[in-house]
Amino acid sequence: MELNKRQTEILEIVKADGPITGEQIAERLNLARATIRPDLAILTMAGFLDARPRVGYFYSGKKSIQSVADSMIGMKVKDFQSTPVVVAENVSVYDAICHMFLEDVGTLFVVDKDSLLTGVLSRKDLLRTSIGTNELEKIPVHVIMTRMPNITYCGKQDTLLQVAKKMMAKQIDSLPVVVTKGDGLEVVGRVTKTNITAAFLSLADDHEL
Ligand code: ADP
Repeated sequence: MELNKRQTEILEIVKADGPITGEQIAERLNLARATIRPDLAILTMAGFLDARPRVGYFYSGKKSIQSVADSMIGMKVKDFQSTPVVVAENVSVYDAICHMFLEDVGTLFVVDKDSLLTGVLSRKDLLRTSIGTNELEKIPVHVIMTRMPNITYCGKQDTLLQVAKKMMAKQIDSLPVVVTKGDGLEVVGRVTKTNITAAFLSLADDHEL
């Protein structure tokens, strides 16, 4: 639900000075009480305001379902992304495992000598190799990684909903955030299921959990 200018003004007045009577609100807006009656009814029905007889209107603190949905739809990668952790293609699987522990991430991105994205390494990629061989120091990560053009990625301006949809469709835990650089893609960020969970939680900021 989009609030009009007057409804937004009423909401601001009640937020700042509530409880406040309809009469007082109308006075502040230089309008007749009857003029703002429909607006007060809408704000009350939508759950933005509560009204108590002889006390007046006060701000409920509740967000309408529509405003929560609007916030969710508007969430962008750039506001929730994390720092990416990258390794070079010739790094050994052993070193990649150490890197994953040290950096405390679940996915590493692999880049070539020009820092362009070439691969992705997940925890299970590394585990799979670990149970298959004990020559972890000799195997370079480019042999086992998921490689371009099979990498699912996103841009800073993409929405978290678009990212979440890709994660579910491809059954992956994270996406590199990229920008085009020459013929390739430079990794500038990382979106993980944790970032999506943080975004989900932020929708409930005003609620006691
Ligand atoms: P895990 O394998 O630890 O459960 P994921 O579910 O993220 O972690 O990875 C599953 C597989 O998908 C792995 O083989 C990994 O290389 C690959 N993968 C992970 N992220 C991506 C991505 N963004 N694009 C393409 N493939 C990916």
